[in-house]
Amino acid sequence: MSSINLSHFSFKQLMELDACTRCGECIKWCPTFAEAERDEITPLDKIHTLRSFAKGQYGGFLARLFGYRPPTEESVKRWSRGTYDCTLCGRCAVVCPVHIDTRSLWIAMREQLVELGSYPQVMDTLRENVAAHYNISGDPAEDRLIWSENLETVPEGVRGKEQAEVVYFVGCTVSFYPLTYGIAQSFVRILEKAGVDFATMGVEEWCCGFPLIIAGMGHSAKELIAHNVAAVRELGAKTLIASCPSCFHTWEHTYPEVLGEPLGFEVKHTAQFLEELIAEGRIKLGHFDRPVTYHDPCDLGRTSGVYDAPRNVIRAIPGIEFREMADNREYALCCGGGGDVEMADYDLVAAVSKRRLQQAQDTGAQVLLSACQQCKRTLTACARREKVRMRILDVVELVDRVLEE
Ligand code: SF4
Ligand code: SF4
Repeated sequence: MSSINLSHFSFKQLMELDACTRCGECIKWCPTFAEAERDEITPLDKIHTLRSFAKGQYGGFLARLFGYRPPTEESVKRWSRGTYDCTLCGRCAVVCPVHIDTRSLWIAMREQLVELGSYPQVMDTLRENVAAHYNISGDPAEDRLIWSENLETVPEGVRGKEQAEVVYFVGCTVSFYPLTYGIAQSFVRILEKAGVDFATMGVEEWCCGFPLIIAGMGHSAKELIAHNVAAVRELGAKTLIASCPSCFHTWEHTYPEVLGEPLGFEVKHTAQFLEELIAEGRIKLGHFDRPVTYHDPCDLGRTSGVYDAPRNVIRAIPGIEFREMADNREYALCCGGGGDVEMADYDLVAAVSKRRLQQAQDTGAQVLLSACQQCKRTLTACARREKVRMRILDVVELVDRVLEE
């Protein structure tokens, strides 16, 4: 087995390995450990496994006494299983008393595991799909706008424009998974009604790179990032809007880091843009009188700190009754759909989503809202499997339904 390459980890991350006090608080909050109950999934275990590898290789009393010992193949496999059976929800970071940035640490561990060749091989299919078709599903790149085909009228911004104030970055999930087409359809109807000068990137929209980055294959995302930024600059946009929280976070934080310069335009999530349209009086909302609850997507809430915008949009709907779930905001339970776990261990995703759906049912709400296409896919699949009669919508779709002329 090859040695551990500590250059995948920042100095801060190496300090964090020693900072962990083994208090075990993170274990109580980990949604995948709660379902699978395998020790290697726990944050504590992953951290201490890496620490023992590093100590065995670079120092520590035992290494000095018995000499350098590379990790065994079996121990690396176990570490890999724990690291990829993680939705990267970041809940462990919220409760960690010494503030370890666990989510970033897990991604760095995945990079290390890819270098060691110890990762779910299905990730290679993901990498091949993105390289060949610029999307995660492997569908032909020219089908990017297939979601718009059954719109009553296809707005000019979707058909293709050379210049626009606002670019709507649709994301691979909405573009290629029919269950979520409605999110993009609703959003472009709202933009049109509000008179926003917008455009999509059409076939020039490539995967944002997030699925590769979190798989530990971030080096393969550089070409995508350069292409997407050049395409938005070409359109002369002042604002880029993403309906996918993971695209949003990647555009806002990872893109400028990778480019080494500011993007030159603002990045917003659809919930933030809707909040502005409502505050400016550019859209008017009609009545909705069924109780609703809201699921915080991990990459919008914990990763990006956006908790209020979707709630403000929901509360702006006259007559709506909004009920919070038991775990909400930074403590929200993950839907199970993150971290590329779906590709490697679907049963685990199903178990996590079942628990979240139960929390939504416990509120007595008839509609479960979220602001993420992957959350919508995961929770809808769960509701169908469990035969739960609950409507699952994106906040954008609800706003579209109550929009007044
Ligand atoms: S990020 Fe979420 S799933 Fe992963 S170890 Fe932390 S709490 Fe568990
Ligand atoms: S909560 Fe933080 S300090 Fe405590 S065991 Fe988990 S990672 Fe270590």
